[in-house]
Amino acid sequence: MQLVADLLGLDRWDLERWLPGFVTSVDHSRGADLDRSAGAWFQVGRPLLALLAIGPTGVTLAVPRVEWQGPADPVLRSEDQRHVPFGDLLADLVPVHLDEVVRIRRSRFHTCVDCEQDKPPEWMEGDLCHSCMERNHGVVF
Ligand SMILES: [Zn+2]
Repeated sequence: MQLVADLLGLDRWDLERWLPGFVTSVDHSRGADLDRSAGAWFQVGRPLLALLAIGPTGVTLAVPRVEWQGPADPVLRSEDQRHVPFGDLLADLVPVHLDEVVRIRRSRFHTCVDCEQDKPPEWMEGDLCHSCMERNHGVVF
């Protein structure tokens, strides 16, 4: 979080108000297909709610989408990218786009019929989440 704040030249506490939860660097060695020219990518939230890249000209925000290329082979992609250039409006525009990105992402979550929790689509198979499929239905991933 402090690294992101420093990169943006923003106060850490402002940033924490905007970002819904945990921020980590995207690990490109673990299946990420993101536009590296946008800069350094960070994932926000657990479960994942938003992607944020800090590049030479500004900040890119995007809706995360995870595709399974195999049972243990998730690939992280971005959708609906928005670019906010560095400048006076950055602190106004980043939260607006971030809210929108998180809203779109959350609208794709599904409620598992077993545990009744909202889960991201990549953790679901039909009406069941992967945890419940393993725990209650004997499915091995
Ligand atoms: Zn479940």
